[in-house]
Amino acid sequence: MSMMFGKARTCNIVPEHEPAECNIVVLGAMGSGKSALTVKFLTKRFISEYDPNLEDTYSSEEMVDQQPVVVKVMDTADQDGPVNCDRYLAWASAFLIVYSIDNRLSFEVCQQYVEAVTLYTKGLQPEAPIILVGNKLDMERYRQVNKTDGETLATRFSCLFFEVSACLDFASVQNVFYEAVREVRRE
Ligand code: GDP
Ligand code: MG
Repeated sequence: MSMMFGKARTCNIVPEHEPAECNIVVLGAMGSGKSALTVKFLTKRFISEYDPNLEDTYSSEEMVDQQPVVVKVMDTADQDGPVNCDRYLAWASAFLIVYSIDNRLSFEVCQQYVEAVTLYTKGLQPEAPIILVGNKLDMERYRQVNKTDGETLATRFSCLFFEVSACLDFASVQNVFYEAVREVRRE
C-alpha cells in the first residue's frame, strides 16, 4: 500500500518530459560580434570588450512559445574560418553564422561557413538549421554589406536571415536565438 502511495507521489513530482535541449553553435569571422551577441542573449547586456580567443559553451533555461528548453550556446573563437569543425558539427542542433554589416571580409568568411556547414548538414536527418546573422546594425553609416547580399545568400542556402545589433535592443537578439529553437522544433 505504502509503495503504491510512493509511486503516485513520484509521478506528481517528476515532470513527464524533461525540458528539451537545443545546442546552438555561433560561427563567424573574428570581430563579427559572436561573443557580444552570446553575452547579450544570456545577460541582456552589451559587453564591448570580450577576450577574442575565449571559446566557451553556456547553458540557459528558456521559455520559447510557452515551452521550456535548455539552450546551450557554443561561442566559437576560430581565427581561420571553417577548419577543425569536428568539435561542433556533430554537437550542434542549429548554427548561427554571423558577419558584421560594416565589414565585407566578415561576409566572405560567413559565406565560407555557410558552405562548409551546409556540406555537412545536407545528409543529416534532421537537418540542423542555419541562421544567417548580419550584426552591428547600429553601424549603418559604415555599411559594407547590403541587406540584399545577406538576403541573397540566405535564399541560396534556404536559411533564415536577420540583421541585428548586439548593442541595441535585447528583443531582436533574443529573437534570433529563439528562432533557432523554433527551427529545430520544426525539424
Ligand atoms: P567575436 O570575435 O566574433 O566574438 O566578436 P566580439 O563579440 O568580441 O566583438 C568584436 C568587437 O565588435 C568588439 O569590440 C565589440 O565591442 C564590437 N561589437 C560587437 N557587436 C557589436 C555591435 O552590434 N555593434 C557595434 N558597434 N560593435 C559591436
Ligand atoms: Mg569571441
